[in-house]
Amino acid sequence: HNIPLERIDANRWRIPTRFNEAMRVPGVVYADDELIQQIISDNALTQVANVATLPGIVGHSLGMPDIHWGYGFPVGGVAATDARDGVVSPGGIGFDINCGVRLLATDLLRDQIKGSVDNLADALFRALPSGVGGYGMRKLTSDEMRQVMLHGARWAVEEGYGLESDLEVTEENGCLAGAKPEAVSRKALERGIGQLGSLGSGNHFAEVQYVEHIYDKEAAKALGIGQIGQVVTTIHCGSRGFGHQIAEDYIKLAEAKQKEYGYELPDRQLACMPINSEGGQAYLGAMACAANFAWANRQLLMNGVREAFASVFGRKARAKDMPMVYDVCHNIAKIEEYEVDGELRQVCVHRKGATRAFPKGHPAIPEQYRAVGQPVLIPGDMGRYSFVLVGAQGSMEQSFGSCCHGAGRRQSRTAAKKSITSKELLSKLEARGVTVRVHSKNLLPEEAPSAYKDAQEVVNVVHNAGLAQLVARLKPIVVVKG
Ligand code: 5GP
Ligand code: MN
Ligand code: MN
Repeated sequence: HNIPLERIDANRWRIPTRFNEAMRVPGVVYADDELIQQIISDNALTQVANVATLPGIVGHSLGMPDIHWGYGFPVGGVAATDARDGVVSPGGIGFDINCGVRLLATDLLRDQIKGSVDNLADALFRALPSGVGGYGMRKLTSDEMRQVMLHGARWAVEEGYGLESDLEVTEENGCLAGAKPEAVSRKALERGIGQLGSLGSGNHFAEVQYVEHIYDKEAAKALGIGQIGQVVTTIHCGSRGFGHQIAEDYIKLAEAKQKEYGYELPDRQLACMPINSEGGQAYLGAMACAANFAWANRQLLMNGVREAFASVFGRKARAKDMPMVYDVCHNIAKIEEYEVDGELRQVCVHRKGATRAFPKGHPAIPEQYRAVGQPVLIPGDMGRYSFVLVGAQGSMEQSFGSCCHGAGRRQSRTAAKKSITSKELLSKLEARGVTVRVHSKNLLPEEAPSAYKDAQEVVNVVHNAGLAQLVARLKPIVVVKG
């Protein structure tokens, strides 16, 4: 594929609209020289250009440095459509609705847990149910399921899984408004009802890490991760089979309606519906149910992590000793307001493998972080490192308040599986001092560090482009994989 790329500066590239006359806006891709080569070798740039053809898209179709090929939209993509006359595309949110990342701090230092690492790994593995299609910690009644869809993480807190203060440091306080349980299919309910409080498989994990490097002392302190060697835990998980089924249901509906709307899109996986249509509104209402399920899910999982630590270190699972830093979603559509071409407009921001990155002072940021910016949690891979950043002003001007969500794949799952065996990978990780517990061993090679881009390069790009600012680098100690 010969996509004309125009260099904007050291970290940005433009895909001009002349590339494809159906493009309504140009594309902008964030990458340095090295990353852009990896990105070109994937079909992701074609997907950025395809997304630029969506009815009602404004600004630019954006690709973050962790971009890679995805269903219709690239993973690592951001697209904003006019909230009045634009569309919403279920494939632009993805199959794992409100997949996201939660970071939990501890008052422990790496040296203090050295002798207990294996016990901790076992305790975490026991505490966090995992596996494809596996059941969760809590089997819900249908009335409870309804409460989860409507209230998200708040339901979990009221049931005793954590504290009110956890909600304050969760994006949207753990509950997206506008949930419509009546827009959720029976099949989705059936898939979801037994899965609350489960990790799932493959890319989802809980990882005990330590703060290895601090870039910004003041911000790190404000986030409660200001000490080198401090032990923290990252949880990465989403809405399990529930969100997946909702995505499937509405992609099917959107596909069936393309003719009726008269849309002719370059890829049928972009199937979309006007935001202000029955289908579009139903999707957004069902999507909010899945988002809320995901927040409740991460709340239960975090509670499991606190209890596992407490059991190993012989103390109570007090949130005071293990305060939650923040929770971000990276597969979601949100109605937000931005200045576009000198005009304030309501837009539907599709973030697919992209994290909100609001700068300091933004009213949506919890008060305790308002002076530093919204925490941005970027997992890297299970061998090297992960990062904590805070949102920066450039995100409001350039990327609809968004930045990257991870390192991003550089190898397909199939290619990754061919390049390393599970056994080889496990011994490599062990040699690096990383303790692994994994449910689906055969899926582990798909998640090898070598399957992912170098997260350091990725976060450097968003930092240098002014979308977010580096705060701290975390290194893995224990990885519990689904
Ligand atoms: P995704 O949501 O696209 O599946 O994954 C988000 C990011 O998580 C990936 O781009 C990758 O950088 C990161 N990631 C995947 N597996 C692991 C892991 O086991 N540990 C850490 N720290 N990051 C991971
Ligand atoms: Mn994810
Ligand atoms: Mn996911």
